Amino acid sequence: MQSNLSIFNSLSRQKEHFEPVNPPFVGLYVCGPTVYSDAHLGHARPAITFDLLFRYLLHLGYKVRYVRNITDVGHLENDADDGEDKIEKEARLEHLEPMEVVQKYMNTYHKNMVQLNTLPPSIEPRATGHIIEQQEFIKKILKEGFAYEVNGSVYFDVLKYNNKYNYGKLSGRVIDELQANTRELEGQDEKRNPIDFALWKKATPEHLMRWPSLWSKGYPGWHVECSVMSTKYLGEIFDIHGGGMDLQFPHHECEIAQSTAALGKESVKYWMHNNMITINGQKMARSLGNFITLDQLFSGDHPMLEQPYSPMTIRFFILQAHYRSTVDFSNEALMAAEKGLQKLMKAIDTLNELKPADSSTVDIGNFKEKCYEALNDDLNSPVLIAHLFEGVKYINSVHDGNEKLSSSDIDYLKEIFEIFVFEILGLKDETASKGDEKLTGELMRIIIDLRQAARNNKDWRTSDKIREELNKSGIILKDLKDGVNWELE
Ligand code: ZN
Repeated sequence: MQSNLSIFNSLSRQKEHFEPVNPPFVGLYVCGPTVYSDAHLGHARPAITFDLLFRYLLHLGYKVRYVRNITDVGHLENDADDGEDKIEKEARLEHLEPMEVVQKYMNTYHKNMVQLNTLPPSIEPRATGHIIEQQEFIKKILKEGFAYEVNGSVYFDVLKYNNKYNYGKLSGRVIDELQANTRELEGQDEKRNPIDFALWKKATPEHLMRWPSLWSKGYPGWHVECSVMSTKYLGEIFDIHGGGMDLQFPHHECEIAQSTAALGKESVKYWMHNNMITINGQKMARSLGNFITLDQLFSGDHPMLEQPYSPMTIRFFILQAHYRSTVDFSNEALMAAEKGLQKLMKAIDTLNELKPADSSTVDIGNFKEKCYEALNDDLNSPVLIAHLFEGVKYINSVHDGNEKLSSSDIDYLKEIFEIFVFEILGLKDETASKGDEKLTGELMRIIIDLRQAARNNKDWRTSDKIREELNKSGIILKDLKDGVNWELE
């Protein structure tokens, strides 16, 4: 097992050598989507970032339990426990049951994740499936004295927590500033302090999703689900917690406070956050008209898109940037990514056809080590891709007759591309439908030969039957002077 991986830990704010709590097992928890709209670009980035991490850890030989949740209750429109539940709001707009909204958008999300070639997580728990566990967790926080109940709702007492532990350590926020910047929202006079956050909310009469509890018929706050589901499936202390940078505060900060309050210790060893995606320099938002769903990207059906972009183009585009840098989407940048990916895939095709020489004229000595070094350096995918393009250069110059490669060097390159391009970066050759065409051609050749054999034996019944059955499937055989051709109707 390679063990030189270092990752950036948002908690310590430095790169750290990765040491699992309990090797060879690695627990990875990533905040998944709140499923109230079609998956969009903002969903693609964390999915691909943590898919890269998941794939690399598996490649290194770790046994990874990758948990990515589905938020299907409790995420309100406003992070300060205000507004409607996002899913309920969509349910009202679409005249659907909240769980129909969840199912509908979860299905699209899963479809898009398969298109982007992300591996499915090991467990995909849903918040509504863990209401009892969340209530038990809240009871623990109450028992430890870091929460209080008012009128059937339960709130986390941030100031009391901060007196013993340190609230804000992940995001670097300071309590005094938070207090100064958090305005008191109307109808939130239940909170002792505006920076407190809800663990359990009593349902208003019109609120649809509600469960009985010790405190009221109500529903859990958004943050508590992740503290509960991560520790339930990965243990009270686990390795890596990931998510988008926008979740660092308040979501992940609140998670740390909840788990520390309930369990007396911090649960997460490494926090990893991917940076955001902007579109032509702007934040993506429905109100700005630059909200592009993944389905729209793949079909090209959006006024801002000059053409469709394939799932692998999107994947390659995201991997071309380091996960902690911002990425700006534009048609030019996507077209460049498309070209780059085609060049890479074409070189791999060429590599498979290269004629080996007795000896190499280029030294590809430590190529593989350089690729590992890039990934070990906090998953530096852009540097890895730059190395792979050096390989592309070798391949093309051999193909053009300017350089030579021995058969062992050709095999070495094939192995490197197999590992890094397909297994770890998770790219696919989308022209692989070429392969399907080849297969169809071969199968048709076999069928035509069988029919010819029947005819040679004057077995007209069989030969006619083959022709009729093919006709039914829309395939027409044409008897020519020098053989048989086929075409689709
Ligand atoms: Zn979460």
